[in-house]
Amino acid sequence: MKLVLTGLNCLKLQNSQKPEPKPGFQVLDVQYCAISRTDAKMWSEGHPDLVFPRILGHELVARDEDGQWYTLWPGHHCGQCRYCLSDRENLCQKMKITGFHHDGGFSNYILSPEKSLIAVPESLRSPLACFAGPAGCVLHAIEKLNLRPNERMVIHGGGTLGLIAALASKDMGAEVVVIEKSEAKIAKATAFIDASGIACVKDTQDSAFDAGLNACPDPVAFSLGLTKLGKGGRYTFFSGLTKNANIETNLINLLHYKEMKLTGAHGLARQDMISALAFIDHHQSRFELLIEKIIAPQEAPDVLPAVLSSEVFKYILDFTDTASDQPLTSSIATDETVGAQPKGVSLVKRFEPHLRSVFENITPAEHHLRPQAQYKIDNKTKPLGALGTLEALGVQMCLIQNSLNPRVERKALLVFASDHGVVEEGVSAYPADVTGQMVANFLNGGAAINVLCRHNGIDLKVVDMGVNVDFETHPLLYTQKVRMGTRNFAIAPAMTEDEMLRAIQNGMQVFLTENTKQPIDIVGLGEMGIGNTTSAAAIISAVTGITPREATGRGTGINDQGLEHKIEVITKALNFHKPSSRDGFEILRKIGGFEIAGIVGATLAAASHKTAVVLDGVISTAAGLLAYLINPDIRDYLIAGHRSVEIAHKAALDHLQLEPVIDFNMRLGEGTGAAITIDVVDAACCIMGEMASFDDAGVSRKTD
Ligand SMILES: [Zn+2]
Repeated sequence: MKLVLTGLNCLKLQNSQKPEPKPGFQVLDVQYCAISRTDAKMWSEGHPDLVFPRILGHELVARDEDGQWYTLWPGHHCGQCRYCLSDRENLCQKMKITGFHHDGGFSNYILSPEKSLIAVPESLRSPLACFAGPAGCVLHAIEKLNLRPNERMVIHGGGTLGLIAALASKDMGAEVVVIEKSEAKIAKATAFIDASGIACVKDTQDSAFDAGLNACPDPVAFSLGLTKLGKGGRYTFFSGLTKNANIETNLINLLHYKEMKLTGAHGLARQDMISALAFIDHHQSRFELLIEKIIAPQEAPDVLPAVLSSEVFKYILDFTDTASDQPLTSSIATDETVGAQPKGVSLVKRFEPHLRSVFENITPAEHHLRPQAQYKIDNKTKPLGALGTLEALGVQMCLIQNSLNPRVERKALLVFASDHGVVEEGVSAYPADVTGQMVANFLNGGAAINVLCRHNGIDLKVVDMGVNVDFETHPLLYTQKVRMGTRNFAIAPAMTEDEMLRAIQNGMQVFLTENTKQPIDIVGLGEMGIGNTTSAAAIISAVTGITPREATGRGTGINDQGLEHKIEVITKALNFHKPSSRDGFEILRKIGGFEIAGIVGATLAAASHKTAVVLDGVISTAAGLLAYLINPDIRDYLIAGHRSVEIAHKAALDHLQLEPVIDFNMRLGEGTGAAITIDVVDAACCIMGEMASFDDAGVSRKTD
């Protein structure tokens, strides 16, 4: 039995076959394998270098044919580089990792390099040996502090690693304080803390510690850790920090003023793992407290989200019951996706009850009215078809409103704004700060979209979906922030499923709230977000099948070199995520943006109320594409505002079979193209309702 990661969020239970032995390697029976946070991250976010399918798991204990138990040093090192030759194989230049580059321990067999095997003492032939990896990392990090008896040690983070670090420091005679801001985690750790003689507090004013270590990725905790040290203090930078964090320069200056020592610690050497086994053996009863639960392999997908949250101790998979060659008998167990994301319909069930009705209320427009509407426009006092696009719009509005006298009384325009993590890749000519600055400009009434909305009598609202700055309340502003920008989709999904669902619902809610004030007859959907043409190009490429090169434009005006780079970023991201071309939710989650999700939600909500939706440029249209994938019936309500100069726009419009109303060579976004088009649609409705027919006016028709 093995758990195979075949894609993001997709762990499949399959029969395993005993691997063929090869020179330098040994085939072992896995007994137990712990689920590390790294495993959970690979499951949830992947990694550009992670190749599917892959068997995860590196915190394991396994047995050979003779009954000897081993733990595995998780690296495959070259043994020849200068790091390997100086017993620092954790820094090996050709390092490959078990459960990442090679298949790991979520299986009842493992093929391990012989040089990675470390014998487990008889007294420790239990799940506890799975702690050898994490405990070895901790010992490796603590060793760098050269702790002396009675020195005072501060540790930020009261999770498994923080507590092991506290125990190891205590063993060296240090007086240890663990700082953990979550009361729930403190409560969870109580038994361990009490048994180990460690203090655990939410915070301390004390700033004279001799040594410290960060055991959580929070950059604030790392910063606070440094400030807690006295002069000559030593600090081990143990947990990598959340990406993009800013570190105060004053803090770095502390290193200077207080003559502190800062050292990094990464992974562990073989020797650390050997030391860890002795350490665990000595503290077996303590380590037992750090086991959350021992579970069957098929339960793994259920606990991965909890592991990811860092709010649980160790879950350990038990492979001792899965007799080696016994085939899986249960039909569900064989090659079934375990715990895969529910798709489409099942995702809709996770919407708030009052928003679920949005999906139920979306129906196609009233196509049965087309002959009458066409007859009406054809009989106006003009040559047949002489009003061109205005005629088509007039007919479309009849079908949308189920009336031969369509009206545009209330016009609205929603500008959704958000930041994009992918800006980190250098894909935009403008810095990310511009998103927030432009939102402020909208609120001050000075942007192009303000002018056009005022000019055309359109109610403008700005929606903060995820701008990386907070705004004061403002009558024009809806605050619907999901997160301070998406994740960088070049290396991880742009958003989690929960974030995506929240963003779509927030977009729905804004439309519904505005519509309740006074029914909206037509709504334009615009956007602001530095980096969002990259997201839109990726979406359009994923849906329509055009290549990233064909889909990628210059956005806010990057140069040739920048354009090549942007194409490369999009190509790599699409190869990494491999989104299905027909799953709007999946594409949105992996490579979308919060403002794009907002537009998707607003489009669905508008269609459910039979309100015409005017898309704007390439980003707004990319969102329209996703809404269309989610519910094809919305297409009848879509009007393409204008033709953008971004190349991908045409592919997206063709896919939706929409013709843009105006072609003004615009590429601003914000909803400006939509604002102009709303006025054109208004005019088309006036033509439909007010213009005289030949019969009304007593004008003779053309005679053939
Ligand atoms: Zn090496």
